[in-house]
Formats: sequence, structure tokens, C-alpha cells
Amino acid sequence: MDGVDQTEKGIVLQVRSKGTPRCPACSGSDVAYHSTYLRHLRDLPWQGQRVEIQVKTRRFRCRNRQCRRQIFAERLPGVATQGGARNRSADAKSEVSRLPFGGAAGIASAGATGDES
Ligand SMILES: [Zn+2]
Repeated sequence: MDGVDQTEKGIVLQVRSKGTPRCPACSGSDVAYHSTYLRHLRDLPWQGQRVEIQVKTRRFRCRNRQCRRQIFAERLPGVATQGGARNRSADAKSEVSRLPFGGAAGIASAGATGDES
């Protein structure tokens, strides 16, 4: 967690990671910085305020010539990674549960309605 801002729109959590990632395809650490982009994740309201998560995500280029993966985005622990390459078996619920706010509530609204069948 990088910082928390209170704005008139609500709470903004800023997240970014440090360190150099490894290529997800070949696990090589010989990577070159490519670019940075900002992702906005909207989380559920927390204590009546809107919560937005700003994720600064860096892209890297794999320099392993044998690697078929060329550009990849780093993965941030604890933040949803939609759009990135990931295990098909990883389910969305475990992803949601790692969000700092609203994770449990998100699961409850998404999947817990079957309980009283
Ligand atoms: Zn690679």
C-alpha cells in the first residue's frame, strides 16, 4: 500500500510495487522497463464513502530471446489482475478476497445467496 488519499469523491488508495519482477513465462529476471500505466479499480463503498484503488502498474519486456513472452505487466500482490495471464483455475473469488476493502462483502453479494436454499 502506497498511500491513502481522502478526496471529495471518496477514498483513493494508491498502490504500486517496488522491485523487479520476473517474467511470468520463463521466470527470468533479465527484464527491461517498458512503460507504466495507471489502473483504476472501483471497490465497494466503505463506511459510506466510495473507494477507488489506483494501481500503478509497470510493464516490462523480457530479454530472454528464447522466451515467447515479450511484454508483460508486473503483478501486484493483493490486487486483482484482470487481463493478465494467469491460471485459469484461479477463481475470481480468491482474487476479490485480497482487496483491502469490500472483499468479503463482494463475495457475499456475488456467491453466498445459495445458502438458504
Ligand atoms: Zn520470459
